[in-house]
Amino acid sequence: MNGCTTCPYCGVGCGVVARTDGHRVIAVEGDRHHPANFGQLCVKGSALADTTGADSRLEAPRVDGVDCDWETAMTEVSARMQSVISQHGPGSVAMYLSGQLLTEDYYLANKLMKGFIGSPHVDTNSRLCMSSTVAGYKRAFGADAQPCSYEDIDHADLVILVGSNAAWNHPILYRRLETAKRQNPELKVVLLDPRKTASADIADLHLAIRPGTDGLIFNAILAACAARGALDSDYIAAHTRGFDAALSQAQHEAGDLAQVAVQADVPASALEQLVAWFIATPKTLTLFSQGVNQSSSGTDKVNSLINCHLATGRIGHPGMGPFSLTGQPNAMGGREVGGLANQLAAHMDPSDAGDQDRVRRFWEAPNLIDGPGHKALDLFDAIERGEIKALWVMATNPAVSLPDAERVNRLLKQCQLVVVSECMAESDTLEWADIALPATGWGEKDGTVTNSERRISRQRGLVSGPNNARHDWQIICDLAQRLGYGAAFDYPNAAAIFREHAALSGFENNGRRIFDISGLADISDADYDALAPIQWPVQQRHGTERLFTDGRFATPTGHANFIAVTSRPAIQQPTAAHPLVVNSGRVRDQWHSMTRTGRSARLCAHRPEPFIEVHPADAQAYGVAEHRLATLSGPNGRYVGRVRWTENQRRGEVFIPMHWTRQFASNGRSSELFQSIGDPISGQPESKHGIGQLSPFATAWEARLLLAPGQPFTPTSDWWSKVPLDHCVSYRLCGEQAVDDWADWVAQHLGQPQLAICDSGAQRYRAAQFKDGQLQWMLLVQPDHELPDLSWLDSQFSGPVSAENRRRLLAAQADTDGPTGPVVCSCFQVKQSSIVAAIEAGDDTTEALGLALKCGTNCGSCLPELNELIEAQPA
Ligand code: SF4
Repeated sequence: MNGCTTCPYCGVGCGVVARTDGHRVIAVEGDRHHPANFGQLCVKGSALADTTGADSRLEAPRVDGVDCDWETAMTEVSARMQSVISQHGPGSVAMYLSGQLLTEDYYLANKLMKGFIGSPHVDTNSRLCMSSTVAGYKRAFGADAQPCSYEDIDHADLVILVGSNAAWNHPILYRRLETAKRQNPELKVVLLDPRKTASADIADLHLAIRPGTDGLIFNAILAACAARGALDSDYIAAHTRGFDAALSQAQHEAGDLAQVAVQADVPASALEQLVAWFIATPKTLTLFSQGVNQSSSGTDKVNSLINCHLATGRIGHPGMGPFSLTGQPNAMGGREVGGLANQLAAHMDPSDAGDQDRVRRFWEAPNLIDGPGHKALDLFDAIERGEIKALWVMATNPAVSLPDAERVNRLLKQCQLVVVSECMAESDTLEWADIALPATGWGEKDGTVTNSERRISRQRGLVSGPNNARHDWQIICDLAQRLGYGAAFDYPNAAAIFREHAALSGFENNGRRIFDISGLADISDADYDALAPIQWPVQQRHGTERLFTDGRFATPTGHANFIAVTSRPAIQQPTAAHPLVVNSGRVRDQWHSMTRTGRSARLCAHRPEPFIEVHPADAQAYGVAEHRLATLSGPNGRYVGRVRWTENQRRGEVFIPMHWTRQFASNGRSSELFQSIGDPISGQPESKHGIGQLSPFATAWEARLLLAPGQPFTPTSDWWSKVPLDHCVSYRLCGEQAVDDWADWVAQHLGQPQLAICDSGAQRYRAAQFKDGQLQWMLLVQPDHELPDLSWLDSQFSGPVSAENRRRLLAAQADTDGPTGPVVCSCFQVKQSSIVAAIEAGDDTTEALGLALKCGTNCGSCLPELNELIEAQPA
């Protein structure tokens, strides 16, 4: 059976056609009719079927560590919440939500907390993602309203990517940009990013700016526009306010381009080129992402780039405008329903008495809040102070993702009541749950999401999910009923929730709020099921491609606001003890805390373990060898990863991935290196600028342990990491102290082996256990580079092992001379060594490599890496 739905990962929001066997999604392909992707999927979307199914799912509600039925669990949730509320008031309970939730789930969570329980303390992991954009848009436009559409990429003549590695994080949009550039040779692409990321592949100009100087660069552009007569004075006069102050500040700090180039640490000629292109190109699109948002001055950075667009009238028309790429599939849907602590539903304001009254009357709410609640960082401060006593976490993993992770884990442990709704059986946050509730996941949930271009799409329930799993909105309704609010939470299905959400958006709106989808308020169940992707605002069932086309904005006067921006450096600055700047971000094939993508062998092959990217000169200065482990120590925490030398990294700065958790590695949580510091306006944490000290992680031994599925093992070594392979699970283990007796170690940790071979002089040991001719586990103690290729070892778990291969296993010799090294093309599992060999043999274009090896011919996510390998080969 086939069904259309939407990818659950990034904010591009690609349409997916999924095939099911009635129980689980077994295959996916891109939806040719979805306007976000027209049939394409990136590597993560292509691997969706690998990540579904009943294994690794949370199977039953759990109270205080004991599995139970739903009645027992919800009775406990209700009783414990009521107890906290009656003793400490409604402000003592909080919810922490997620951009992974569907709009209908989000809407009800906010309705229950902000209208009925009466607590304003509802925040979401979108706080970590794009809350600086929300604040910047509201200041400039009067509303959290994305002006542009993806189609603007097709019309632009200059695209500036700021703090965005779209090639890895919004791959299908990046593909669209590649196509636009192919079709329009005049199109220029500029990348502003301290790192030379994969997105530099098609850039005509890369400014490897000093971290945190993006606001300064945009102030310089604004000042240069004024100095060179490039302002649109008519537009400024007719449609904006506050220009003089913004320009005066820009001229004051960035009027001298040569000085700005020094401050930003880029060549003056490169900055001059950017300014010249900006001035000469009316159709300029500025795509920005977490490099801008995740900063203690993120909101000001957003406004600095909006200022440049307003000053040149470059907004509201095809091919131009500031365009925030949202990180999560439903970050924007959460914003629509008031998912952030400083929002009320339907883009209303919790501080506005009129909006409070409007929502109170619409919901017939007995306990509507009278102001904003705690943003994510403040919320955990309130837990520390003992003010928040009960926290319900839905579909997210704050134990990993919030800065200062050790402290967050301590506070989750300290909090009187922690309820976690989760679809997977294991997560760092679940470890602190007093009550765990099994939720449905992708392919099972039914509702809507809104992508980066304001496009509402259906995410459809195609299979029912594990027996015990419930939709998040059903769990919320259950609690509401037990708290005495059942009449206001009596919904037969997700469509009914959507209709109410749509009706509220139009309630007493009269053009006051841009977010208005009341054209869908009377949608039937059948039409909701069949709803085609549509961009808000929606009038009479017609969507809206572009906002502010008439120069009217959502402020009381209808004018957009310039904001005078003073650029500020990051708060965490290097010290003698912590001399390096630490940056963090996503990798190509993983999503957030890996609870789903970490189940896919092919997605784990690209970057199989935590790593630290460092400039070779810094690596030598700090004595860390390539491919060896190193420790990055910060003021509050520690991270251990495999060292990757790269000249794509600026001197004095390192990069680490954000994905690894305690489920996948012993010391891989990047958030331990970032302090709990946020933007004063948006509250968004500064997750791109920590500090650290780099040192070698000295190992006395390294081992590879392969385990058949289901084999129990608890790693206790000084460092470890784990990945799934096709037929087994692979651990890398390391110890700082030599092991005297490996036979003894194996007996303690794995049991008695059937076969073992020891070369004590060379500190080598290999052992294996078989059952009915099948490998159960295999331990190989020796440096990893001496081991047979991992795919050959993995293949030995796929069936009975021949006598010859048993001998080879213990001798640690593969019977293949096949390719080795990291996987570059995940779709076809093509390894770097094969690609390099093909390039050396003359296949030195991506097209030729595609013909020879198929790499890069499916999703295209690896094309920038193929180009990098081609460029790295001597001519
Ligand atoms: Fe999913 Fe990839 Fe599309 Fe993002 S670009 S929505 S991860 S398929």
